[in-house]
Amino acid sequence: TRVVCLVRRPDGEPLPGDFAVEERPLPPLGEGQLLVRNLYMSVDPSMRGRLESTEKHYTHNFTPGSPLDGRALGVVEESRCASVPPGTYVRHQLGWRERAVLDAAHTDGAGRIDPRLAPLPTWLGLLGQTGFTAYVGLTRIAQLRPGDTVLVSAAAGAVGTSAGQFARLLGADRVLGTAGGPDKCALLVKEFGYDAAADYRAEPVRDALARMAPDGIDVYFDNVGGEQLAAALHALRTGGRVALCGMMSQFGGDRRSADINQLIQAVLKRLTLRGFIVRDHDDLRPEFEQRVAGWLAEGRITARETVVDGLDNAAGALLSLLGGGNVGKMLVRLGES
Ligand code: NDP
Repeated sequence: TRVVCLVRRPDGEPLPGDFAVEERPLPPLGEGQLLVRNLYMSVDPSMRGRLESTEKHYTHNFTPGSPLDGRALGVVEESRCASVPPGTYVRHQLGWRERAVLDAAHTDGAGRIDPRLAPLPTWLGLLGQTGFTAYVGLTRIAQLRPGDTVLVSAAAGAVGTSAGQFARLLGADRVLGTAGGPDKCALLVKEFGYDAAADYRAEPVRDALARMAPDGIDVYFDNVGGEQLAAALHALRTGGRVALCGMMSQFGGDRRSADINQLIQAVLKRLTLRGFIVRDHDDLRPEFEQRVAGWLAEGRITARETVVDGLDNAAGALLSLLGGGNVGKMLVRLGES
């Protein structure tokens, strides 16, 4: 089958030549296993850290000469597991390839998904790990309360568009976002229910927050770290809560840590800052799926994806995501059915 391989570890910013599509043999199908043809693959910022040799991440790093992997959704072509017949749609972890052989037991969240309940892309976005991250971050980690003013960074991205919409439905009074560029900021207000949005490239976020939230914020859902986290610390009210979800700003060359001094704000204002990894919170998954599927069915939330076609363009989709080329969930499509 065709797979995307890491050719070499990036020297600084990743480049297209660091990846290649290669042909690899599929293992024979064993008892309890499935042959799956992938239809959609999730493109995730965490892959950036996994390209490095040294960075410690919550899952294994990629190795030069070996295929990449990641979340994907496909259709079962052959099955040696009676309960998962051919034609079943499953989510799993062996993306970045056209076909995969996997244990039926390793398909994600009971494996099957029902394409009649929501379109395929939604199962990797709003109803997938992405939406679940937003839900866990807001409810359990930031302990969102009705009436809160909430700020979300990377607000036009996959987790961000989910978090902004969920925050409103969970009772937030005001929802503010930051994103790169005026077009994304306009979309946040027009399509994703944000009350106001600021372009972090155009002005210091600290100034934007003074304008958008003169009375401060209660919750900060942090996808980017760095300067924006420092600005949020200043804007948070006493007793404010921060869900530390990711640090997009730290992937590039700019890893200055001067902002750490701003943590005095957490002391003065008795803030709670809590990092989380979504997979530790699987107990919330049934509640999440029920609520979000309900909101979708009622037309109260919008699922948005940026879809790139073909395995040959998959590495380019990752590079584009890191540069902010996506609105909503970045996906690679290999087929529709
Ligand atoms: P997104 O769809 O949000 O894509 C990443 C976005 O980051 C880009 O679109 C870009 O938007 C923004 N960005 C890139 N560089 C910078 C920068 N220097 N400063 C600020 N923003 C930048 O990805 P996801 O929704 O998949 O992930 C969002 C965050 O959530 C990531 O940090 C990810 O690591 C984290 N995450 C954490 C999980 C957990 O368990 N803790 C699980 C899943 C995701 P723009 O154009 O606005 O700059």
